[in-house]
Amino acid sequence: MKVGFIGLGQMGSGMARRLLAAGHDVIVWNRDRTKADALLGEGATLAETPAAAAAKAGLVFSMLANDEALDAVAFGPNAILSAGAGVLHVSCSTVSVALTDRLAEAHRAAGQRFVSAQVLGRPDVAAVGQLSIIAAGADEDLATCAPLFSAIGQKVLTMGREPAMAAASKLAANFSIAAVIETLSEAFAIAGARGVEAQAMLDLFNETNFGSRMIGIYGAMIADQRFAPAGFPITLGRKDIGLGLDAAGAAAELPLARLIADRMDRIIAKGGGERDWAASGQAID
Ligand code: NAP
Repeated sequence: MKVGFIGLGQMGSGMARRLLAAGHDVIVWNRDRTKADALLGEGATLAETPAAAAAKAGLVFSMLANDEALDAVAFGPNAILSAGAGVLHVSCSTVSVALTDRLAEAHRAAGQRFVSAQVLGRPDVAAVGQLSIIAAGADEDLATCAPLFSAIGQKVLTMGREPAMAAASKLAANFSIAAVIETLSEAFAIAGARGVEAQAMLDLFNETNFGSRMIGIYGAMIADQRFAPAGFPITLGRKDIGLGLDAAGAAAELPLARLIADRMDRIIAKGGGERDWAASGQAID
């Protein structure tokens, strides 16, 4: 299939490469052109603007840092919404439910189609096409995306027909990862206060009913104090905890999410925001 790909950061470059490897005809755009150049030698073609990537392919993925970046690429000059009717935009960035709703409405008004396809998995997982895709959109649009999803992911979880349902689900999942990181950090500290090695505590978790891939991955990073280079920095994690608080609204009491947000704010204020978010439960001097 022809597919546009906008946003070639840590995640997007791996996803675009998987689409190329699966034989798709990939048309790329990135704000910093040098990141797009890296993919041209691997068979991708270059679009001069986000609108051109969308118009040439008819279906375009976006994988951008945050709300501001997605807003610029969707609504700005030469952006996806100006690419003409019929375009299907598959938005993979972790962004707010408010922007997701605004995008769904704007695409509808422009005669375009819109799917939210959030991803779970870090850059190394994206590079090998093993992401979990948390999707929401019209059934026929999700069916159109199926061969592309199978190139970048190992499974698709459909959360509903309204794109914001996927955005909210991804924010809820990321909150849960942050809570696991906080739990492991505190558990290692409790046992560590009596001389128990973090690795021994991690073995206890892995060998009992606690065992899970999430505990295995983050527990090993925390036990080894392996926080750089960051696959997912604390700054991006803080963005997602804030978006989760916003998504739930004032009515929901989310004491744990607020605690984690405060902890991350303190680390960021002390200059630790570029550490991997596995470090979000660690004290910083
Ligand atoms: P990243 O490496 O920092 O890449 C960010 C991308 O956004 C780059 O292509 C960057 O372009 C672009 N961008 C930023 N501001 C822009 C703007 N104003 N206009 C146009 N483009 C802009 O981030 P990432 O790790 O790939 O993450 C991308 C998204 O995936 C985020 O929403 C993140 O929360 C989510 N996510 C990340 C992970 C992870 O483990 N890293 C896992 C799941 C989901 P330039 O190259 O020009 O700067």
